[in-house]
Amino acid sequence: MEALLKPTLYAADGTLQGGRCTCGHVFFPMQGHGCEVCGRHGADLQPMTLQGRGTLLSSTVVHLHADKARPAPFTIGKIMLADGPVVRTLLVDAAREVEPGTAMATTLVAVGTGDDGQAILDLRFKPEG
Ligand SMILES: [Zn+2]
Repeated sequence: MEALLKPTLYAADGTLQGGRCTCGHVFFPMQGHGCEVCGRHGADLQPMTLQGRGTLLSSTVVHLHADKARPAPFTIGKIMLADGPVVRTLLVDAAREVEPGTAMATTLVAVGTGDDGQAILDLRFKPEG
């Protein structure tokens, strides 16, 4: 068995839990506080499943993190999702920058083991194909 580290943000099939406003604005993650474009809130904001695909805008390798308990290096990417929102996320390769413009897709990787021995999975992006 496997468990997702952040099940409110993504699903086991690699899709993302975003939202859409009645004005057409698509955002991630899902929230009901208010649309950043038009200010509507509440029922005007509805959950929307976003494809786990996008285009890399930039990436950077972090060699030293302020939190020394955090393993480094790791690579952060800024990705424009196919559905519109831009997300900052971890890339699969810990120490390799990726060319901007590269097509990216989500993948789930094991990041630990739960008390009951089940694998805990977290979401990363990797070059597609
Ligand atoms: Zn709106």
